[in-house]
This record gives sequence, structure tokens and C-alpha cells, in this order.
Amino acid sequence: MIGLISATAAGAAARDRLAAAWPGRARVYDGPVGEAVRAAFAECEQLVCFLATGAVVRLLAPLLGDKASDPGVVCVDEGGRFAVSLVGGHGGGANELAREVGGLLGAEPVVTTATDSVGMAGLDTLGLPVEGDVAAVSRALLDGEPVTLAAEVPWPLPALPVAARQAQGTPEPAEGTYAVRVTDRAVAPGEREVILRPPSLVVGVGASSGAPVEEVLELVEGALRDAELSVRSVARLATVDAKAAEPGVVAAAERLGVPLVAYSAEELAGVAVPNPSDAPLAAVGTPSVAEAAALVGGGELLVPKRKSQRADGRPAMATCAVVRRPARGRLAVVGLGPGARDLLTPRARAELRRASVLVGLDQYVDQIRDLLRPGTRILESGLGAEEERARTAVAEARRGHAVALIGSGDAGVYAMASPALAEASDDIDVVGVPGVTAALAAGAILGAPLGHDHVSISLSDLHTPWEVIERRVRAAAEADIVVTFYNPRSRGRDWQLPKALAVLAGHREPTTPVGVVRNASRPDESSRLTTLAGLDPATVDMMTVVTVGNTATREIAGRMVTPRGYRWQEEPK
Ligand code: SAH
Repeated sequence: MIGLISATAAGAAARDRLAAAWPGRARVYDGPVGEAVRAAFAECEQLVCFLATGAVVRLLAPLLGDKASDPGVVCVDEGGRFAVSLVGGHGGGANELAREVGGLLGAEPVVTTATDSVGMAGLDTLGLPVEGDVAAVSRALLDGEPVTLAAEVPWPLPALPVAARQAQGTPEPAEGTYAVRVTDRAVAPGEREVILRPPSLVVGVGASSGAPVEEVLELVEGALRDAELSVRSVARLATVDAKAAEPGVVAAAERLGVPLVAYSAEELAGVAVPNPSDAPLAAVGTPSVAEAAALVGGGELLVPKRKSQRADGRPAMATCAVVRRPARGRLAVVGLGPGARDLLTPRARAELRRASVLVGLDQYVDQIRDLLRPGTRILESGLGAEEERARTAVAEARRGHAVALIGSGDAGVYAMASPALAEASDDIDVVGVPGVTAALAAGAILGAPLGHDHVSISLSDLHTPWEVIERRVRAAAEADIVVTFYNPRSRGRDWQLPKALAVLAGHREPTTPVGVVRNASRPDESSRLTTLAGLDPATVDMMTVVTVGNTATREIAGRMVTPRGYRWQEEPK
């Protein structure tokens, strides 16, 4: 819940706008502000105060405790110009809240947390448990002091501006240097070290009916302790369907704060394990529960099956096994839009900032370089190296990294998505971020040429035989569909566009409107409206798309307009 507190009429008006925008999420605290702030601080996860920062600082001072658990507090000034993240920037989410409030009220978000203001990922905002001196290591990162990143377990983290990276199995960073270590081993952070705990461990659990939660929990914790593994890296407990509701197992997962997943006996029976046995085979239909359930997703068996030990000497009621699962890398295929920064979607921006590796054509990398987090590894290449880029991106994701593969417009349209996904296997996560493709950017400039059915056709015959291209142009001509030509003409390919236009002219009037847009939304954008008969192909190049209307397309007030279908009957041909 977000507590809203105001003192003046202007504050109350802004407060009510937030309350209206957040039904069920916000609560208004009336009455004397001191009492209101104290009550909201005790009852809410976040506060928005329409009060001077000084007043709020004085009221909050005696209430502040731990920055990890205190509410995040945002102050908005009387004029509604600024939304200041005052305390709890990260832990309390005040930085995010300031941005959201800013968006809703048209106020400028003011964020002073160092890592946010230089675009660095805060060590405590990565979604992983952290241990150690976060403040000291963050300061070192910000000051550009050498910080070593030792990723013992690969995990798809955003970029960190570290000086050196250590791969798995390399020696410990030298004493006295700053370090970020990504590990599931139960080591304590050194003096100048932060440890990030990836959710890399899966604990398989088997249990007899009525196994007490203490017995299950002691077994699991003991197994982790003996293997020197951190309980904070446990991602989940895993078991067989028949035990999915076993109270001791369910409660153990709850106490560890992790989900419990269950698999069918059939599926578990198909998993190769080192220690199968007859007892579970008879009871639930699989020769292994703990080891098999832990190994379903693959990985390395760190703790083979072990049984609980009971103080009363009775037979064990629980078994467990621990597996380090393979890191799932993440490949984001991101469309950057046609060029203008404000046609890059917020989602594309977020994916660029979530990546630690960026793969793309050098000219597209230049388009967004300033948005990347410091420390992002950039793998850029020149024109033509498309398949190599696709392979590189997939290989980096397979190594467990968070990768963004970029393309202009939409990355799925004559671009990187298909070669990349042709290489990708199901051991990585893939997300696509759509972008404004050239045909749409050009359409908006020309008017409404795509108001009815339309196709895009690439005239590049580098990867497609000309016969195929021509057949498709002919089909579009016969079906009277609006056509946008991509890759229309280059120095070495100059006869294809005239040929394609001639095919269309066989089915459309010479006066059919044709829109030519060059560098849509880029600084040297230009566009012109002409006709099938009037288009001079020599004025077209590779920075251009050409949109040819259908028999219903008209020029109206200098704009290209294709009527919607329901106008069809009124315009007999
Ligand atoms: N993925 C891109 C298309 C890549 S093919 C997209 O979705 O837009 C390259 C062709 O796209 C160019 O030859 C040109 O025809 C067209 N194109 C890309 N960006 C353009 C822009 N800003 N203005 C005009 N045409 C563009």
C-alpha cells in the first residue's frame, strides 16, 4: 500500500490524482501531518508526501530503521514540479516510485542514489540476495577503482563496470582489492567484497507420509552445510507428484521461502541417477525421487542422495539431493525502431539496460550506445556478418549471459531474429521486443497508405532468387494489395525496382500513388509522393522504402490514403 499525505489544497489536488490513478494501491492519510506520516510509515510499504523535504526529514528521523525494510518515501513540492526520492531509493523502491509519480503528475523525478544517477546497476537491485559491504564496493565501482568480478557461477546479470572479469575456476581475487563474487558456495564475503547469490541450486526431496517438517528441513540444511553451499542460492525444492502435498515437504519449502515443484513418477523414472533404489519404485513408481527430481533440468549433482537421521533411531523419513542447475542465459532480440530516439520503445530501452553483452551492427550500436550501462560488453561487426552475429549472440547467451541482439526497425523484419532463433536451442530464454518497422514509420509520414491489406517485399536477391521475388510481386499485383518495397535499390542492384514496378503497372493505373521515404525519422529524413508512371528509380537508394498504392489509393490534400474496405462498394472500378 502507498500512503498519501498532504497539507495544502494544491497538495491535496495532486494527491487525489495519484489516488485516482492507483485504485486499491493507495490510501489517503488525513489529519495532522505528523500523525499521518507516522501512521503511514508504520502501515505502508511506500509513502508519497506532498510536503517540504525538510518537514518530512524531521518527521521521519526518529522512525528510520533499516534501509532494506523501511518504506520508500517520495516528496512532491507544492508546485508539483519535482518528485524527490528521499529515502529507501533501492530497498524501498523510492527511485522507481519517484519516476512513476513524475510520470503521473508531470513532475521531474529527482534521484540522487549514486548508482542510479550514473546509470549503473545497483548491486542491491539485481534481484539476487547480496552479502557484504555493498556501499563500499558500489563506491569503488563509481569511483572507477579496480573491481574484480568473479563469476564462479555464470548468471545473466546486467553489466557492472568492473575492471577485470574472472572466469570460473580462476584463483581468488588478491587480498585488499574490491570484488564482486557470484557464487552459491557458503563463503563469507571478504572485507571489500560483495557476494551475489544466484538461484542456482535445486534440492530434490523425497519423504514418507507424515515426515515432520523439522526432519526435512534439518536434512536439507545439513546437506547444504556439509557441502558448503549457501541456503540463499536454493532456487526451489523438487519432488514427485505423489509428495507435492506432503505437509512436511510443503512446510519445508515455505520456511526456506522457495517454491516446491513436482514431477510425475514417469518423468522421474526417465532421469538417469547414480543411486536408484527399490523402495521408491514400489511406493511411488520411480527408482529415484530426490536425485531424479533435482536432476530433471540437468546440472551437476553436488550432493548425492542422503537420508535424514532421527534422534530416536527410527528409520529415516526423508531423503534429499542437491544439484547445481545450468545457468539459463537470456537472449533479447530488440528492435530499435527506424532511428529517432522517441520511436525506441521503453521496453527496448529496458532490455538494453538489462544486458551485459550487446551484439549488433556497428551503425545500430552507435544509435543507442549512450543508453547502455557502463561495463556492457559490446560485440559489434560490420555489414554482412549477419550469421556470425547471430551465432555470437546465441553462444554468449548459452554461456549464461544476458545478451541483447539489436536490429533497426523491427528485429524480426528482414533482420536478426530469424538467423538467431535458427541457431538457438531451448536451453536459453528468448524474448523479442517489437520495433517500429520502416514500412510503418514511412506510412505515418506519407499519410495512411496501409489502411487496407498490404505486404512488404524485399527486393534484395542476395538470399532469395529473383524468380521468387518476382512471383510474389506478381501475386500482390493480381490481388491488388498495397506493397512496400524494402532494400529497393543499391549500387550493384539497380534493375530490380524498375522490373517490380513494371509488374505492378500491369495491374494498376499509371496515376497510382507511390510514396518514397528516405531515412524515416532520422535527421536527414525526406519523403515525396509521386505516381507509378512518375517515379524515377534512380532517386531511390538503400536508405529508402517505396510504398505503392492499390487501385483504391488516392492522394488527398498531399497525403497518400488507402481507403478502408467499407468504402470499396462506393468506388466501382
Ligand atoms: N529490420 C528493418 C529492415 C531491415 S532491411 C525494419 O524493420 O525496418 C533494410 C531496409 O529497410 C533498407 O534498405 C530500407 O529499405 C528499409 N529501412 C530501414 N530503416 C529505414 C528508414 N529509417 N527509412 C527508410 N527505410 C528504412
